[in-house]
Amino acid sequence: MYLAEKLKNKRIAMVNATSYGGGVAEKLHSIVPLMKDMGLDVDWWTIFAHEEFFRVTKTFHNRLQGQEGELSRDDIEIYLKYNKMNASYMSDWKYDFIVIHDPQPAALIKYRGKKNEEKWIWRCHIDTSTPNPEYWDFLCEYLLDYDTWILTMKDFAQESSCFKNIVYITPSIDPLSPKNIPLEKEDAKAVISKFGVDTGRPLISQVSRFDPWKDPLGVIDAYKIVKKELPSVQLALIGSMATDDPEGWDYLYRTLRRAGEDYDITIITNFNGISNLEVNAFQTASSVVLQKSIREGFGLTVAESLWKGTPVIGGNVGGIKLQIEDGVTGYLVNTVEECAQKTLTLLRNPLVAKEMKEAGKEKVKKEFLVTKNIADYLKLFNNLSLN
Ligand code: UDP
Repeated sequence: MYLAEKLKNKRIAMVNATSYGGGVAEKLHSIVPLMKDMGLDVDWWTIFAHEEFFRVTKTFHNRLQGQEGELSRDDIEIYLKYNKMNASYMSDWKYDFIVIHDPQPAALIKYRGKKNEEKWIWRCHIDTSTPNPEYWDFLCEYLLDYDTWILTMKDFAQESSCFKNIVYITPSIDPLSPKNIPLEKEDAKAVISKFGVDTGRPLISQVSRFDPWKDPLGVIDAYKIVKKELPSVQLALIGSMATDDPEGWDYLYRTLRRAGEDYDITIITNFNGISNLEVNAFQTASSVVLQKSIREGFGLTVAESLWKGTPVIGGNVGGIKLQIEDGVTGYLVNTVEECAQKTLTLLRNPLVAKEMKEAGKEKVKKEFLVTKNIADYLKLFNNLSLN
């Protein structure tokens, strides 16, 4: 409260691309109301854009996470057109701190221009450890105007003349949100059985957007290896279709094709009844949760599942490495084969799984709850007020 007290007369704006789907929206849904409860004057804005913009920014997202490809003139034009248009809606804004989340709205600063004592902060949620240089250089033109950047971890600050004031803040989960409040195992099982899951048999789940970086195809391949050794196992892939991720549908169809006619694989989205309670239930009732990402900014789904006392196997990348201490709070894996073997280890050794569950929950309690995240933001705002 002391940190909030000092920000009493300050105004804060959070700006991102979408109010639904994916980790950024998830975090803002908790952080913004909690900051308001603390007496802070904070608003959350999402930018207005058509699908052409989100197609381009999804490419930006992929390229900034390392995908090869050239930046086209047309894509630059579309990206800047919508940033310019959204900046025009900001002409009468009066904020002390403007926090821009991710690359989609990053160029607003150029068209709006910094006014008076405003401090602009770029909060990057993606893994920028090995970006496509052409895209990175393009974005840097805009990023250089920001007062500070927030990154999730040091690995994401590759050597680049573009980086200046960086602070590191890890994302968080809200333990009191409908997604994370404690559910009795039996209640969770009752919820997931409605989706055709047999709650008497082992279940592996991954909760993620349908995106190549989340590797749902690799998850299916790992499950198929497990299935050969343990025929009773089932797999659930739970995914939200984010409004800023037009690629999601194509990837969902690819995933459905890979699953084929195996009726022990359940693939469901927010379009067939998945909301926070159902995500909570799958994370609570699964025998093992996977987050087999190939690149990952943080991976809230890891913290969410650890918090529920479910063992987690994650890709050995990005923010997952902050959450999973290999062999202690879960397993980190590099290949499909390794993922399958570790899944079998957990399914066959309840004692190992139990120890990991306890260590995992403790880690989330200490490091990844929303209260710490808010304190980190407030410290940053206070520091910036002094400059
Ligand atoms: N999520 C959800 N429903 C789904 C799939 C995902 O609510 O069907 C949530 C998930 O619980 C998590 C967020 O979306 O809170 C995803 O955040 P994460 O950091 O794991 O990945 P991102 O999508 O930001 O890359």
